[in-house]
Amino acid sequence: KSVEEDAAIQYLQGQYHNIVPDEVKTFKDLPLSQKTLKGLKENNFLVPTDIQKQAIAFALQGKDILGAAKTGSGKTLAFLVPTLELLFCKKWTRLDGVGALVISPTRELAYQIYETLRKIGHYHDFSAGLIIGGQNLKFERKRMDQMNILICTPGRLLQHMDENPLFDCGSLQILILDEADRCLDMGFETTMNSIIEFLPPKRQTLLFSATQTKSVKDLARLSLSFPTYVAPHEQAE
Ligand code: ADP
Ligand code: MG
Repeated sequence: KSVEEDAAIQYLQGQYHNIVPDEVKTFKDLPLSQKTLKGLKENNFLVPTDIQKQAIAFALQGKDILGAAKTGSGKTLAFLVPTLELLFCKKWTRLDGVGALVISPTRELAYQIYETLRKIGHYHDFSAGLIIGGQNLKFERKRMDQMNILICTPGRLLQHMDENPLFDCGSLQILILDEADRCLDMGFETTMNSIIEFLPPKRQTLLFSATQTKSVKDLARLSLSFPTYVAPHEQAE
């Protein structure tokens, strides 16, 4: 048996359900695959930030997450690390189709997420794509069903959902709403609501936001089910 198969077996037996985030010192203290640990190490990500410790631990337990942490606290890895693990390690069968959707307010942020995913996911075997416009819609559409992880801006994703009734989200496991407060500030509330309604309800959702406004809470109520609230200590007050 390979290390990865062992990890899948341990995970499925529920042995990862007692991680204590406060006792996590390095990424190695989290139940991550060798592939992910190597990708992190080679990019000099050794010590997880507080939001990463907590979000990774709870996301690996299959929980929905409402994550609150200020800009620069490391929210990108807080969702990319568990996404890689859940889609490509902690399961028996190979993922076929779109397993995760990441929604980001701007093209620039989407591109940064994509770059980070490429780096830390280097040792995993998967495909990822950007759905952010600026390209021919047909060209984008042709490729999107074959991508395992899609990183999207809200408007462009909804355009695909509206204009391509065959867009297949049947294998979707994880929805990530990144910088949710910014998405809402930019006027994407109804767009996000439509996207969420389009997606299969049986999924895990991770929502991250720097602030917790009323509209963020409304979005959380619509998209999350029994979420774990994750906020680093310095923000607790
Ligand atoms: P946020 O989305 O919360 O604003 P980012 O995910 O963009 O934060 O991360 C901010 C910066 O911190 C990035 O340059 C990233 O490479 C760096 N970073 C994130 N996590 C770690 C870590 N565990 N160790 C070192 N640097 C990190
Ligand atoms: Mg961010």
